[in-house]
Amino acid sequence: MRILLVEDEKDLSSIIKQGLEEEGYVVDVAFDGEEGLYMAENYPVDVVVLDIMLPLLDGLSVLKSMRKKGLSTPVLLLTARDALIDKIKGLDTGADDYLTKPFVFGELLARVRSLLRRKATVKEAVIRISDLEIN
Ligand code: CA
Repeated sequence: MRILLVEDEKDLSSIIKQGLEEEGYVVDVAFDGEEGLYMAENYPVDVVVLDIMLPLLDGLSVLKSMRKKGLSTPVLLLTARDALIDKIKGLDTGADDYLTKPFVFGELLARVRSLLRRKATVKEAVIRISDLEIN
């Protein structure tokens, strides 16, 4: 499983990256929104962990561009502010879940696992539908 982490705070991103790698995930890191968007479009990513406050292009704009281009990769938004408006905007823009900083690493892991499970279920459903079509 491959995770794209888009977070400009170097200390935080290296802690998250290390933690995810210890759990067996392959982790790519982008430090700004433009790089993050490029990697989300061009790398085989299973889940994107996307900070909202980013240089060059903010997280909500990255998400908006991804969805506009038809990318359905599950996205977990990170927000430093506990602002309700960010959560609403994020979910409306196509985020699958969000996490408010500061968070406990275990919660990030649980939410990533949950997104991966949901993704797997969607895949199964698609396979079953195509079987029905064949019959
Ligand atoms: Ca940030």
